[in-house]
Amino acid sequence: MKIVTRFAPSPTGVLHIGGARTAIFNWLFARNNGGNFILRIEDTDQARSTKESEKEILESMKWLGLDWDSEPIRQSERTEIYKEYANKLLSEGKAYKCYVTPEQLQEKRKEAQEKGEYFKYKREWAEIGAAPDKPFAIRLATEDAGKVLVQDLIRGNIEFDLKEIDDFVILRADGFPTYNFAVAIDDFDMGISHVIRGDDHLTNTSKQILIYDALDLGKPKFAHVSMILGEDKAKLSKRHGATSVIEYKNDGYLPEAVLNYLVRLGWSFGDQEIFTKDELIEKFNLESIGKSPSIFNPEKFLWVNSWYIKNRPTEEIAEKIMPLLKERGYKTEPDITLLKVIKELRERSETLNEMVEKSSYFFTNDFEYDENAKNKFLTEDMIPIFQKVIEKLTNLENFTHDPIHNAFGKVMDETELKLGKIAQPVRVALTGGTKSPGIFEVIEILGKEKTIERLNKATRLCSR
Ligand code: GLU
Repeated sequence: MKIVTRFAPSPTGVLHIGGARTAIFNWLFARNNGGNFILRIEDTDQARSTKESEKEILESMKWLGLDWDSEPIRQSERTEIYKEYANKLLSEGKAYKCYVTPEQLQEKRKEAQEKGEYFKYKREWAEIGAAPDKPFAIRLATEDAGKVLVQDLIRGNIEFDLKEIDDFVILRADGFPTYNFAVAIDDFDMGISHVIRGDDHLTNTSKQILIYDALDLGKPKFAHVSMILGEDKAKLSKRHGATSVIEYKNDGYLPEAVLNYLVRLGWSFGDQEIFTKDELIEKFNLESIGKSPSIFNPEKFLWVNSWYIKNRPTEEIAEKIMPLLKERGYKTEPDITLLKVIKELRERSETLNEMVEKSSYFFTNDFEYDENAKNKFLTEDMIPIFQKVIEKLTNLENFTHDPIHNAFGKVMDETELKLGKIAQPVRVALTGGTKSPGIFEVIEILGKEKTIERLNKATRLCSR
């Protein structure tokens, strides 16, 4: 059997963490099996679907490194196909026209509520207001009693009682299919072998099975993945932090980290936390998807990201960080200075944004001094010491780590001060704060000119 999976987003918003995980699982399963991965845009809800949302979802997917095997398919362009299938059901008596209006149904619902009765659509209402020129919906004729069985690859067999499923609409009066109808037809028509999606769709699956059975079509296999919950066990939402892929991109996460973390929300391979993309493709399987809900842990996510920040090739980080530096008006080239900055800062940054934050002093003389640091370290007694540092550094021919280190050694000898007493004020002078990579590394990266310039400025600040 050819493995074909799909991701079927509704373009009514951004790509959320949950949707992204569904996309990743489907993509990995297809790639693991040498199958196809289809992208289907479920845009039959004309009022809520937008082109911008579609574009953004596709961009988020590309950013994550997911690719699909044919042009994206839009349900809105396939309405004729759904109509054909609906008409087939009509002609076989497995579906029927329903003229009752949504308003009339609302009335019925209210009546039932007032009487404290369970509301279920009744077939005899179909003819209410029937007239040849009146628009009608098409409903699937379902049995009143019995069960429908969902065989799920993750959760086993789940039965739904037909008593609780009414004759649901498959084609609306405006000619558009309902979600369940379009999905069932498309999954069949596109040869989808496996439907992997959130378990919030289980009830939908029972309805889709009724559609397949009515049309006598083969069904895909189903795998329903547990929801992602917040640490308080509530459904993941805004109050748990950023929930869309684009927010993580904007916050300075690396796509490899997002992919890696999301896969681990539900799927595992022993205790392994970090996976390359190739490893994921090789190891991914449905058997290792857990049944219980996954808990979204922002600290762990950040940890995974910081792992990637430390371990991706420096050139790649440079490429990603350049636009961020440019946005702040820093002129940078992917040159040796930038690579050195990254090598120093990746150890102390968890996101690209943090790296940019922490690196500003490498790219501009116009950085802010931390008020406390300035008051504590740029004091009058530092003036002669700064002057000595300036003198020794000015005389250096080879402005690299070891000679810089030696120069400080000389200042220490002459002043009888410990390195910390000299290095920390120099750090404040050069970076504006008390935290930075090693001082000799910072000085080497800044170069002689900028270092001396800043030490001079700091000397002036000392004589306030
Ligand atoms: N458009 C549906 C959604 O976004 C797709 C569900 C499915 O995979 O069938 O929830």
